[in-house]
Amino acid sequence: MIERVGYHIFISVLVVSALIIISLFAYSIKSSHVLTEIDAPLIDAAMEVKLELTLAHLNFEEHLAGDKTATLDQVYAHIDNSKWYAEAMLFGGQNSEGTYLALNQEVLRKKVFKVLDGIASIQKKIKQRLSVTNGAMAGSPLDHSFDQTFESIFKSADEVENSLLLYLASERASKKTTDYAILLISILLYAFVIRYTIIHHKKERLLSKNLERMATYDKLTGIPNRRFFDETLSNEWAHALRAKTPISLVLCDIDYFKKYNDALGHQAGDNCLRQVAEIMSSILQRPIDSVSRYGGEEFAYIFPFTDEEGAKNRVDVLQRTLKKQRIPHPESDAADHVTISVGVASIIPNASQSPDDLISKADQALYRAKEKGRNQICMA
Ligand code: GH3
Ligand code: MG
Ligand code: MG
Repeated sequence: MIERVGYHIFISVLVVSALIIISLFAYSIKSSHVLTEIDAPLIDAAMEVKLELTLAHLNFEEHLAGDKTATLDQVYAHIDNSKWYAEAMLFGGQNSEGTYLALNQEVLRKKVFKVLDGIASIQKKIKQRLSVTNGAMAGSPLDHSFDQTFESIFKSADEVENSLLLYLASERASKKTTDYAILLISILLYAFVIRYTIIHHKKERLLSKNLERMATYDKLTGIPNRRFFDETLSNEWAHALRAKTPISLVLCDIDYFKKYNDALGHQAGDNCLRQVAEIMSSILQRPIDSVSRYGGEEFAYIFPFTDEEGAKNRVDVLQRTLKKQRIPHPESDAADHVTISVGVASIIPNASQSPDDLISKADQALYRAKEKGRNQICMA
């Protein structure tokens, strides 16, 4: 349950941070579009100013040279177009090719105004050249100053275009820096989120493991309890059934424990149970073996993959250790110290049997050990 909650938190945090990162990137992409939308048409307009002026110039020279296809109307139309683009750069405008937002840098605006002045003076010079006969011929002083005016307008228009290109390049560079910063922040954010959730998840797993552990451990003795015993026996029984391997069960019961309590008190009885449980645990060798508190003063070993002989061997060690410890028992009829009676049962399970059959066999053996005078081991 707790692991599920942890998993949901993990997924939610992951989704939220993914959304934040996606928004950052969307913002970055949108801002780069805005950059292009504002600056690209302005650069385009600067180029158009130059193109229209060039066409006006060419048409005018052709007209003066007597080319009937180059009309004055065409010349004026091209000049008007170039003026329109220059004004669009200053005040904004819209035509079939797009929308032009007004240029907002004062230095560049001044240059565009210079272009407009130049266009006005070109218009004047056209009138002048048309009013004089032959004075407008190629190579004449009027032609010369006409060309010079064109050149100076071109220069200003070039400057505006180049400045805009430089400006756009620097904007793009700083945009790239922002993009890298966003990328870095995203990576760090994600790394942090993942690290945090892993730690959080680990903590929760530990907590849930501890809770699980608490539920399967006996409070008094600190060894596994009856619930653990039941689950383990059922699992190991299933393994043994599948693998056709032996499994052994050993039931141990402290002799004359009621008398022990009566003589020394319940508190001493509890201490005795703790000592016996510790001794019982001390003889375990393999991680798969276990001893649980089966009932009040009864304990049970489960030895998977172990036959009768192997189990007997372990229990002999237990009896010897218990004897060595000599926990005093003033009222026992079996010895002057605490003793146990033991019933051992082993089986290679088949499908018609159940764990209860094994328990019952061990129980009967334990009963015989009691009958025969206690402090001994009986095999089923
Ligand atoms: P036997 O040799 O036949 O096993 O005799 P016994 O006295 O050991 O068995 P009996 O079943 O008559 O009594 C078991 C006693 O164990 C009774 C009960 O008070 C005691 N006992 C069970 N659980 C605990 C416990 O947690 N703490 C203490 N102090 N005593 C307990
Ligand atoms: Mg008993
Ligand atoms: Mg007993």
